[in-house]
Amino acid sequence: MAGGDMCVQLTNDDAQISKMSCIERGYFQDNFLHFFVRRRARRSPLINRGYYSRVMALRNLLYQFLGRANMFPGQPLQVLSLGAGYDTTFFQLEAQGLAPARFYEVDLREVTQRKAATIAAVPDLRDRLGASAAVDAEAGIVSSERYSLLPADLREPEALAPALRAAGLDEAAPTFVLAECVLVYLAPEEGAALVRCLGALLRCAAFVLYEQIRPDDAFGQQMVRNLESRGCPLRGLPGTPDLEAQRRRFTDNAWQRAEAADMDIIHRCHLDPIDRQRAERLEIFDEFEEWHLIQAHYCIAVGINDDRGFFQGVSFP
Ligand code: SAM
Repeated sequence: MAGGDMCVQLTNDDAQISKMSCIERGYFQDNFLHFFVRRRARRSPLINRGYYSRVMALRNLLYQFLGRANMFPGQPLQVLSLGAGYDTTFFQLEAQGLAPARFYEVDLREVTQRKAATIAAVPDLRDRLGASAAVDAEAGIVSSERYSLLPADLREPEALAPALRAAGLDEAAPTFVLAECVLVYLAPEEGAALVRCLGALLRCAAFVLYEQIRPDDAFGQQMVRNLESRGCPLRGLPGTPDLEAQRRRFTDNAWQRAEAADMDIIHRCHLDPIDRQRAERLEIFDEFEEWHLIQAHYCIAVGINDDRGFFQGVSFP
């Protein structure tokens, strides 16, 4: 395996350790992540609050998408998580009785191998996939009625579409595509090719990105240095300077429309205010200027292809 790919995979461990730090401090619940994360570390209150914002904002969008099922009865919904790492959303939804008809996860083979091995070894995970589930840890593949885990390199989108089709992806079904802190590890042209490929494939879909923005101002440069000092170059940053660039990344690449907002706005205006206030009391800090600056350097952007009005009424950032 190339050294670059190794360090990209380690970003998954880093993200999951940060999410565990939040879970252990009561920011949000996740009854499954601990099966995948062995190493624990206590993150700073600023990092914990940032992850709280990220997780809750993305959950909010996903739950709105799943809630549209009531308006379109009988319509099977799909989720496609790109660079999913050890994300446990499928297991959480399944435990709540909210899992969509199909849930696909894609990552580099070494990551899906480890994820598949954990799923095979933990009855609390495996049993949620149903009796017909097949887990091949060596190949990094899990297939079951609702959930599929596939190894794929997102830098090769022309191979991704056939692999997803073979796993049962329905190009016409309403689809929630998630790329949470993933495209920044692809070169801008590789990210654009992936966005274009999925835009051409999916006619009724929302592609939700969580990414860094504004890497070029003084604070952005400092953040990039801090992140890269942990060993992994953020190859996608040159293509993502601001919210307009994030929107254009969709509208220039086969998506009908796009929305984007920075996490400072999303934290203040789009999270459930009661839960936000609860979370803000968990760890008090006084670095407010730094908090707002950090949040203003991350965003959620959404590309939408909506051939039948499925997404009308979903409030994107
Ligand atoms: N989305 C997860 C989350 O936010 O918890 C994991 C985020 S982690 C920062 C980035 C993930 O993207 C890693 O799991 C990494 O292996 C995956 N990734 C990066 N480049 C990839 C590529 N070319 N193909 C497939 N997955 C990739």
